[in-house]
Amino acid sequence: MRFLAVIRILFWSLWPPSRSFVVGAVLMGSACGSPPHVPPEGLPELFEAVEAAPALHETAMDGCIQVHNVWKAQVRAVHLTARGSIGDRVAMLRDSVYAPYSEFWDGYLGPGFDRWVRRHFDFAGHPARTNPIRTSFLALIADATARAEEITGLRGCAKWYLVYGPGYANMGGLSDGRGMLVDFFAPGYDGDFSIEDMRQLASHEVAHVLRGHASEPEAWTVLNVIVSEGMADYFKKIYWDGELNDAEVLGYSESEWDWTVAHESELWRIARGQLEDTSRAVIDQYQRSDRRLHPEGPPRVGYFLGFRISEAYMARHGPDALVNLFQLSARKILDDSGYSPQPPSAAP
Ligand SMILES: [Zn+2]
Repeated sequence: MRFLAVIRILFWSLWPPSRSFVVGAVLMGSACGSPPHVPPEGLPELFEAVEAAPALHETAMDGCIQVHNVWKAQVRAVHLTARGSIGDRVAMLRDSVYAPYSEFWDGYLGPGFDRWVRRHFDFAGHPARTNPIRTSFLALIADATARAEEITGLRGCAKWYLVYGPGYANMGGLSDGRGMLVDFFAPGYDGDFSIEDMRQLASHEVAHVLRGHASEPEAWTVLNVIVSEGMADYFKKIYWDGELNDAEVLGYSESEWDWTVAHESELWRIARGQLEDTSRAVIDQYQRSDRRLHPEGPPRVGYFLGFRISEAYMARHGPDALVNLFQLSARKILDDSGYSPQPPSAAP
């Protein structure tokens, strides 16, 4: 989860364009290129799929889940202007894709939608363009939300925006805790795209939806990041009920996991001195896949520490306390967890 300064919209697992990468995915390349002027491969098939099921707005769970299929409007606009000029395409995308969802685009992309289309919206060249028709994302999101409700008793209602976007996040959330996005053009959705990965990602993101306002977006500190990302991964573990081991939950290799466990007290000693820090550069060391807190360790140790804090909290308070991870402040969760990793030499 992170802040975008623009109109106070916060995206979970998101970072601005110049700071390119995606949590749990791969490092982003710079995707530049000119939009095509002839119908690209895969597009007629996409267009047919969109024409057969054109609903831009779908709901599930009695309206609790709302999905805006912005990608369908994008497919239509690209297809209908395939033989036109770039100006035609920009105009159509502006009218049918930007205007109805301007608040979303302003928050996610920032200003300059037209410029982004001209310079970076390489639809034809993107290997992920047919991914939205590979599964029902409405069903995927509704399944994750329903299962989360079954586990916690809490209902994670949200508006989801499904887009071909700038790829800053594969899945993320807005600061009000009720707006979410799937960006099919994020790294990780190309040839290796797996629906199973998507389901795992959804279980983490639904935890953010459940935590919503309790995530204290006014004071975005290292502690907030550690606890909110860690509790989301802890919830992911519960959600998958033994199907994923701890390393898999965190998206670590076995050796990365072993390293973090062996150096846990050392990592925590550093983190303890930075918990109230709000600087982006420091927070990035805990959250981003291309930053490291410890030069020898894996990235995203904030997730690891928050995961261990959540485990400590739950070990102390029992399974019925799970709901507290979504409702208490990060500080309260930490203080009541008794989390205090000991150096390996001091361990019994
Ligand atoms: Zn997250």
